[in-house]
Amino acid sequence: MEEFRKYAGEMLDFIERSPSCFHAVANVAEMLKAQGFRELKESEDWEFSRGEGLYVIRNDSSLIAFRMPTAPKNWESPQGFHIVASHSDSPSFKVKEDPEMAVEEHYLKLNTEKYGGMLLSSWMDRALSVAGRVAVRDGNDVKAMLVNLDRDLLVIPNLAIHMNREMNKGVEYNPQVDMLPLYADCSQGEKKDILRERIAQELGVLKEDILGQDLFLYVRDKGRILGENGEYVLSPRLDDLQCVFSSVKGFLEGKSSRYINVCAVFDNEEVGSGTRQGADSTFLEDTLLRVAQGLGENHGEFLRLVAGSFLISADNAHGVHPNHPEKADPTNRPYLNGGIVLKYHGSQKYTTDAMSGAKIRSLCEKAGIPCQTYANRSDVPGGSTLGNISTAHVSVESADIGLPQLAMHSAVETAGVKDTKYAVELFRAFYQQ
Ligand code: ZN
Repeated sequence: MEEFRKYAGEMLDFIERSPSCFHAVANVAEMLKAQGFRELKESEDWEFSRGEGLYVIRNDSSLIAFRMPTAPKNWESPQGFHIVASHSDSPSFKVKEDPEMAVEEHYLKLNTEKYGGMLLSSWMDRALSVAGRVAVRDGNDVKAMLVNLDRDLLVIPNLAIHMNREMNKGVEYNPQVDMLPLYADCSQGEKKDILRERIAQELGVLKEDILGQDLFLYVRDKGRILGENGEYVLSPRLDDLQCVFSSVKGFLEGKSSRYINVCAVFDNEEVGSGTRQGADSTFLEDTLLRVAQGLGENHGEFLRLVAGSFLISADNAHGVHPNHPEKADPTNRPYLNGGIVLKYHGSQKYTTDAMSGAKIRSLCEKAGIPCQTYANRSDVPGGSTLGNISTAHVSVESADIGLPQLAMHSAVETAGVKDTKYAVELFRAFYQQ
């Protein structure tokens, strides 16, 4: 159990340091740099030697890392790409431009909007703060700076039960009315731009030099291990930072003599992936093509590499719920601590099929990792994820997996303490092939 807790603890620490997608990507870059990886810029020519580990970032919020095969004699002809894809973003509230709203000259609250589909009620009555990216004037240019107001700052207060007796019978929350966070007491006189002033202070820049913002609320709850025997983890953003952390760790540990290993972390999965840096962009295709070109491969050889490739789409899965076991499929029933979840979907929202699923199963078998299966109930439409979106751009054999969790898209989610270690082991085995 000690080993399992070690992996889970590291994962929770990674999540705590990653209050926004921008921070998650910066932390992944740090993990890579610490192992000698070097950053390439999309706007520059790519030059790299064949033994190098490299990564490229788009929009500060998506990252693709790759490593060449290790054996010199095989450098001439890698077999393909071994790719794991996960996502850096989680449902949250985006702070709007010009967000400050005074209420009766006493309260100052922030105007926000939903980012992704979260369980709204779970965000209430918790300490919250603000993190993300701001655009700061830099001479004649503009530079991006990450910001995390690392203190208890905001709260979205519930309405008292006395003011709505129907509350426990189910309530419809209006995001423009019910979900705005209380920020400050402004009864001492009108103030303007307090949040921007606070951010400027935090970054040591002038308020006037902040020209843009991508700021999100995040819950201040620390990840923790709980249960009679410490069987579970409770943390914000397990979807999908648990898979981000596990895939990067497995990527750093697993070296292949025949495949180009690729670890991709995409932003904007929670809003459909259709952005310049999302899975539904050319980011993966562009990167793989430039890697192949850097190795001196022509287009035909690039297509040969793609044909020999495999992609694991790694995004968390629904475990059987202790209070609602009937919500799970009657026969495909993943449990927390039960290991890797292979996801299947008849209409192929999940890319797993007989062949790709078999490859994951046999990897798990060889590495001694438990493996379970997920399918939606036939009368419930499920969510979609990265796999079939990515493979629309780079058409490679693919399987969808995840780690079992409860309360997906709640402000804090519950998962098994053992499953992070299983995921790292699977990814390591995949990358070692
Ligand atoms: Zn997800």
